[in-house]
Amino acid sequence: MPLRSALYSQRGLVTTLIALLGCGFLATSLLSYYASRASIRDNIVNTELPLTSDTVYSEIQKDLVRPILISSMMARDTFMRDWVMAGEREPGQMTRYLNEVMTHYGAYTAFFVSNSSLTYYQAKGVLKKIAVDEPRDAWYFRVRDMATPYEINVDLDMANQDSLTFFINYKVYDYANQFIGAAGVGLTVDAVIKLIDTYQQRYQRSVYFVDTTGRLVLTGADGGPQGARAGQSLHDLESLKDLLAKLPKPHSGSYEYSAQGQEHFLNVRFIPELNWYLFVDKREDSALGEIRQSLYLNLLICLIVTLIVLALLNRVVNRYQRRIETQATLDSLTDLPNRRGFDLLAAQALHEAQREPKPLAAMLLDLDHFKRLNDTYGHLAGDKVLAGFSRDLESCLRQSDIICRWGGEEFIVLLKDTDGQDGLMIAEKIRTRIEEQRYDYQGQTLQITVSIGLTTLQPDDTLHSLLSRADQAMYRAKQTGRNRTCVEMPHSSYE
Ligand code: GH3
Ligand code: MG
Ligand code: MG
Repeated sequence: MPLRSALYSQRGLVTTLIALLGCGFLATSLLSYYASRASIRDNIVNTELPLTSDTVYSEIQKDLVRPILISSMMARDTFMRDWVMAGEREPGQMTRYLNEVMTHYGAYTAFFVSNSSLTYYQAKGVLKKIAVDEPRDAWYFRVRDMATPYEINVDLDMANQDSLTFFINYKVYDYANQFIGAAGVGLTVDAVIKLIDTYQQRYQRSVYFVDTTGRLVLTGADGGPQGARAGQSLHDLESLKDLLAKLPKPHSGSYEYSAQGQEHFLNVRFIPELNWYLFVDKREDSALGEIRQSLYLNLLICLIVTLIVLALLNRVVNRYQRRIETQATLDSLTDLPNRRGFDLLAAQALHEAQREPKPLAAMLLDLDHFKRLNDTYGHLAGDKVLAGFSRDLESCLRQSDIICRWGGEEFIVLLKDTDGQDGLMIAEKIRTRIEEQRYDYQGQTLQITVSIGLTTLQPDDTLHSLLSRADQAMYRAKQTGRNRTCVEMPHSSYE
C-alpha cells in the first residue's frame, strides 16, 4: 500500500475510533440518565407522593378529624340539648360545659350558639349576641340553612384575638329533630400551617388543600402553587386550569403537568371528613437535579477521556508516521539514506550551492570485484562488508555531507562547500582507509577496495548531469585498474 494512503487509512481509523468512543460514551451516559430518570419519576409518582399524602393525611386526621368527632359528640350531648330546651337558664352551666370540653380535649375554643336566643356561648362566658346583619356572624346563618350536618370553616376567632381558626360548626337538633343551634370546637390554623411547612421543607414539595369547588383553602406560609393564597381558585391559575378540567371525579390519583417551563408531579387525594382535596406537588427539577448533574459530570468525564484518547492516538500516529517516513528514506542494511532520501537532500544541497554560490563536490563510489567477494564468502559476508564500509565511509565525512547508498555496492557522496582539490583529498582518504581496512566475518578476514569517480558542481548542472560526470569518472577508475579516484570535469579529466 502506498505510504500516503496507509496514513490516510490510519487517520480514518483514529476518526472512527473517536466516533465510536464518543457515541458509545454518549449512548451509555444518556441511557443511564434516562433509566434513572424513569425510575426516579416512577418512584415519585407511585411511592413518594402517595406516601407524603398518606402521612399528611394521618396528621390531618389527628388534628382535624378528632375535633369533628368532638363536635359531633357535643351536638348529640343530652345535657346541651336539655339545657337549651329548658330555656338556657344559668349560662354558667353551659360555659362550664364548654370549658370542660375545651380543656379536656385540648381544643383551642369550644362554643355553642343558640338559635332561639342567638347567644354565642364559649368557655369563658357569654361572648355576644349574634345578628343577621353582622358579616362576622354570617357563618351561623349559613350553618343553620345548610343541608349537611356540619361544616369546616376557616375564620378569624373573635374570642381569641382574631387568630385564624378552623371551626367545626355542627348543627344541634332537639329530640324532635328541630334545629336549636350550632356547637363545635375551633383549633388554630397555625399548627396545621406549621405542619404543612415542615413537610414542604423536609421533602421539597408543596402541600395544600383545595375544596370541591377548586378553591385553595389551606396552604403553607408561602402560599400554594405559584404563590396562590388561600381563597384563590385553582381555575384562575393558567398552569392548573387545564389539569383541573381534565381531572376525573373524585380526583384522587397522580398527575403530571407543566408550569412556567417546569414539569410537576401531583398527587391528589380526597379527604372525605373534610370534603377537601389534599394536593402534594413536586417539581421535577428538584427531584432530577442530582441525576442531571451526574449526567453532566458523566459527559464531561467522557469528553475528557475521549480527548485524552484522541491526543494519545494522535501522538502514536504521528510518531508512527514519522517512523515510516524515516524508514522509507533509509536503507535498512547500511542505515544510510536511500535514493528517495538522497533525492530530497541532494536537491536542496544543489539549490543552496548554486544560489550562494559555493563549491560542491560529488563522488560516486563502487566496491571492486564485489561479486567475487559474494561468490567466495557468501552473500551474508557481502552484507557485513557493505555495512562496515558504510561506517568507514561515514567516519571520513562531515556531518553536513550527504551520503547515499545508490544501489547494490554503489554509493554517492555530496561534499558541501568543497572544491575539486579538497574533494580529491577526501576521496583519496576514503580510498586508502578502505584499502587498509579489514572486515571480520566468521573468523575470516575480508578486504576490499573501492573505485571513486569525482566531479564538482557547475553553474548549469542538474543533479543528473552532475552524477553522470561522476559516473564517467568512476567508469574510468574501473577501466584504469580499480582502487583509484578519477576526476571528471566538464572540460578536463584526470586521474
Ligand atoms: P566491479 O569491480 O566491476 O564493480 O565488479 P563487481 O563485481 O563489483 O560488479 P558487479 O556490478 O558485476 O557486481 C556487483 C555485485 O554486488 C553483484 C551483487 O550480487 C552484489 N550486491 C549488490 N547488492 C548487494 C547486497 O545488498 N548485498 C550483497 N551481499 N551483495 C550485493
Ligand atoms: Mg557496481
Ligand atoms: Mg562493483
